Amino acid sequence: MNWDIVIGLETHVELATRSKIFCGCSTTFGAPPNSLCCPVCLGLPGSLPVLNEAAVELALKAALALNCTVTPISRFDRKNYFYPDLPKAYQISQLYAPLARDGYVELPGGKRVGIHEMHLEEDAGKLHHREDRTAIDYNRCGIPLIEIVTAPDFSNGDEAAAYLEQLRSILQYLGVSDCRMEQGSLRCDVNLSVRPAGSDELGTRTELKNLGSLRAVRLACQYEAQRQIAILESGGQVRCQTCRWDEDTRRTVPMRDKEQVGDYRYFPDPDLPPLVIGDQQLDRLRREQPELAHEKRRRYARDWQLGDYDCATLTTHPALAAFFEQVVALGAPPKQAANWIMGQVLRRLSADDLGVEEIPMPARALADLIALVSNGTINRNTAVEVFDAVFTGGDPAEYVRTHHLEQTGDVEQVTAIVEDVLAQNPQSVTDWLAGKEKAVGFLMGQAMRALGGKAPPALVNEIVRQLLERKKSS
Ligand code: ADP
Ligand code: MG
Ligand code: ZN
Repeated sequence: MNWDIVIGLETHVELATRSKIFCGCSTTFGAPPNSLCCPVCLGLPGSLPVLNEAAVELALKAALALNCTVTPISRFDRKNYFYPDLPKAYQISQLYAPLARDGYVELPGGKRVGIHEMHLEEDAGKLHHREDRTAIDYNRCGIPLIEIVTAPDFSNGDEAAAYLEQLRSILQYLGVSDCRMEQGSLRCDVNLSVRPAGSDELGTRTELKNLGSLRAVRLACQYEAQRQIAILESGGQVRCQTCRWDEDTRRTVPMRDKEQVGDYRYFPDPDLPPLVIGDQQLDRLRREQPELAHEKRRRYARDWQLGDYDCATLTTHPALAAFFEQVVALGAPPKQAANWIMGQVLRRLSADDLGVEEIPMPARALADLIALVSNGTINRNTAVEVFDAVFTGGDPAEYVRTHHLEQTGDVEQVTAIVEDVLAQNPQSVTDWLAGKEKAVGFLMGQAMRALGGKAPPALVNEIVRQLLERKKSS
């Protein structure tokens, strides 16, 4: 039998606020365990939550960019469960009146994926399981989250991963979250079922957790679909379970029967008033929405004639796109700026183990370097050397000056050196006279070396050929 795969995603995204959602504690990542906690985030008796407006503002930006309808009056609810990652024994979330509903995301191929709803909630603490005990870090408790729930609209893991990439791009461009899967600021659960091809009834799903990368999402979807198909084909039934993705064995491992909504005894949180969102705020946020990746790609292609690959690479992260646009704004021709960034800048970032938000070189320095090449002060090879020298700081023009790297366009000087080179390599000259064209390359290389690389290659090439031709006729 042929089977269709059906996938829906629940994605948790940590919002990029400086303080937590219901108290003033800092959200800094990587601080010493339990150093960023107060009575509110620990749920001590008598403490009361106060909603952080900045978290609402970021969540609304996301809701609008995901084409959702914002709920004019949304409410907070308590999701009760007993587990040591949450000292209050309930999580403040939204169930009955979530912040936003009914949106969609358009994937690069054009497919629209439905967003069922999006709500605000607080993060829980992080458990560190050791050999013989479990340590708990409550710093993460109370970090603002949005949970974004899609319709069951994906038919394979590649689509699910493409959606996550698109979502990440949107949220990063909005400044809503840094979306680092490896640091847990973007986490996703996969819900997956299979059904006979063409059927429109949903099969029983499982929920997959612990997916730490896009690759894990793809592999887990593949594995889980095959596991369910094998069960059904052997006459069994899929159980509605929560499974853990095991990165080492690359398998999904059933953990427990999936909890149903009733298990959480949701009820409205009496400590928090309803959240009222006015049209004015929404209008302002719509006006302020920054240009997103797909809009930049379209503009780069239209205004600067960049190809698809360049446009896609330069817009993978807003920091890279911003750097590129600054270099162009400082006068660099767009195609040259693109080549330098996609070649040298990305190479150096990766060699120095830096992220694209951490480019140490000011845009001004790269623009100046590109100008030094265009106006003939240095040639390309020298420019790469200068680039490496000033990448972590320094002025290209000054570096060129102090290291005497200016190329010479002086025909007499180049001619003198090429004459020397020909005199020192009579065999190559003889070879060339005998018709071995390759000898030119060798002589050219020797001449460039004797010139310290500081002459325009085209000029050197022309002079080498001229002098050789002269030998032929003499
Ligand atoms: P829960 O919070 O219990 O996981 P939801 O009903 O909110 O429940 O669904 C969560 C996600 O599971 C959604 O993304 C939804 O599209 C997806 N989903 C629901 N039923 C199925 C199914 N039978 N097969 C695949 N995905 C499903
Ligand atoms: Mg779920
Ligand atoms: Zn706190």
